Amino acid sequence: MRIGHGYDAHRFCEGKQLVIGGVEIESPLGLLAHSDGDVLLHALTDAVFGAAGRRDIGYHFPDTDERYKNADSRVLLRDAMELVRGDGFEIEYCDMTIIAQKPKLAPYIEAMRREIASVMGVDVSRVNVKATTEEKMGFTGRGEGISAHAVCLLRE
Ligand code: MG
Repeated sequence: MRIGHGYDAHRFCEGKQLVIGGVEIESPLGLLAHSDGDVLLHALTDAVFGAAGRRDIGYHFPDTDERYKNADSRVLLRDAMELVRGDGFEIEYCDMTIIAQKPKLAPYIEAMRREIASVMGVDVSRVNVKATTEEKMGFTGRGEGISAHAVCLLRE
């Protein structure tokens, strides 16, 4: 077994669709990024790379590369999975926490789980997604952006 951790944060911006966990969320603001800004999939992709000893998302998908401009982060996660499967690893379990003061994410959590499991090619029982606020403290609490943590257990 190998464990990996991932963390990511993005700032809110206007004029962009908010996408978290591969699911479109109703929100007046999106997340500023070179890609679609899917903070949850970025944290998860980093956890997968971390567990496999394959550095990080910025190393594999640099934001200076025009191929990843407005990239669908599901494609990045799928590519990461292909790489670690090539190394002989399979997903045992993934758990994630989204930290956001707004919008309310509870109605979207199950859709995120299903979408993430589908992208990773694993059963939904191996994927868990949670959301919390930081009680109006810090940058997420002030509504400046959203952050996410992920842990991933790989088996050889
Ligand atoms: Mg990111």
